[in-house]
Amino acid sequence: MMNSNIKLKPLITEKEIKQRVAALAEEIGTQFSGNTLMIVGLLNGSFIFLADLVRQLNSYHLHLIVDFMRITSYGSNTVTSGKPTLCQDVSINVKERHVLIVDDILDTGYTLEFVVNYLKALDPFSLSVCVLLDKSERRQIDIRADYVGFTVPDAFIVGYGLDCDGRFREMPDIAVLS
Ligand code: 5GP
Ligand code: MG
Repeated sequence: MMNSNIKLKPLITEKEIKQRVAALAEEIGTQFSGNTLMIVGLLNGSFIFLADLVRQLNSYHLHLIVDFMRITSYGSNTVTSGKPTLCQDVSINVKERHVLIVDDILDTGYTLEFVVNYLKALDPFSLSVCVLLDKSERRQIDIRADYVGFTVPDAFIVGYGLDCDGRFREMPDIAVLS
């Protein structure tokens, strides 16, 4: 059960998320229309966003392939170590494919920089990035996502796949933890 010292402040509603995910799917579905698109989700935080996004993409004329990578840069605390490491690699060929990286949140940028460089070296046909949330104030690296759901303030965010020490991933909406 909930610790009494943990407070959640609502930030983005389930309805707002749903509308924005549909709009992102339209952008992506139009951009890659007629092509095979390999989606590479970054575990664990992206799993709910990715699940909703691919179901919205089903309405577009695309051949989707879904795969995952796991990168670690956070321990059980909320401050990034700034040194991402690869824990789980993609399991299918990236070479000469249109690849779309899907992550929950772009914060300092260290994680996405690492993944972009890693996948670029595997020679994809194109490489783009989609994040649900962009905490742009916190950026340490010059990197931007091609598709962004929402720009969010510099606060610790949970829900809709994002956790704090394993908790709150299952919340259907997005909140700030304090
Ligand atoms: P970056 O490498 O850009 O600093 O961090 C990216 C990763 O850190 C995200 O994929 C996410 O897993 C985690 N992260 C960054 N900010 C937050 C946040 O506010 N809440 C949660 N739950 N995770 C975050
Ligand atoms: Mg993550």
